Amino acid sequence: MSETAEQYYADRDDFVRYIIEKVNPARKDAGLNEIDRTTAETCFRILYDFQSKDAVRPSVMRVAREMEAVLKENDHKGGWQNCPMEYLRDRLHQEVRELDRALLDGDPKNITKECIDVANFAMMLRDNCGA
Ligand SMILES: [Mg+2]
Repeated sequence: MSETAEQYYADRDDFVRYIIEKVNPARKDAGLNEIDRTTAETCFRILYDFQSKDAVRPSVMRVAREMEAVLKENDHKGGWQNCPMEYLRDRLHQEVRELDRALLDGDPKNITKECIDVANFAMMLRDNCGA
């Protein structure tokens, strides 16, 4: 769902037109009356509120997919469930240092790789912390 108010309103207008066309195609070219518009906008608001509660932002989904790809490449190592917290902590610190160097070098591809490494070790610590 939209992340900006401007996109929200663009989505809403598209949604209103879509609903009217589905509910009453004959009215499509006749123009919308106030009831059509109010009904469709109410539908859009309900759908928007419903999706917003559980929506995962596109940026978070992209990072999650990149994290999963790296985890899959390393499946042969047997996972992190039995790794001591101290080991994971040390690896996280090592990856943060690698990210710091990548940021200084400025190569976006390497920055991305190291961000994902940091995220994965943070995830492993979170996964194993017992909460
Ligand atoms: Mg790394």
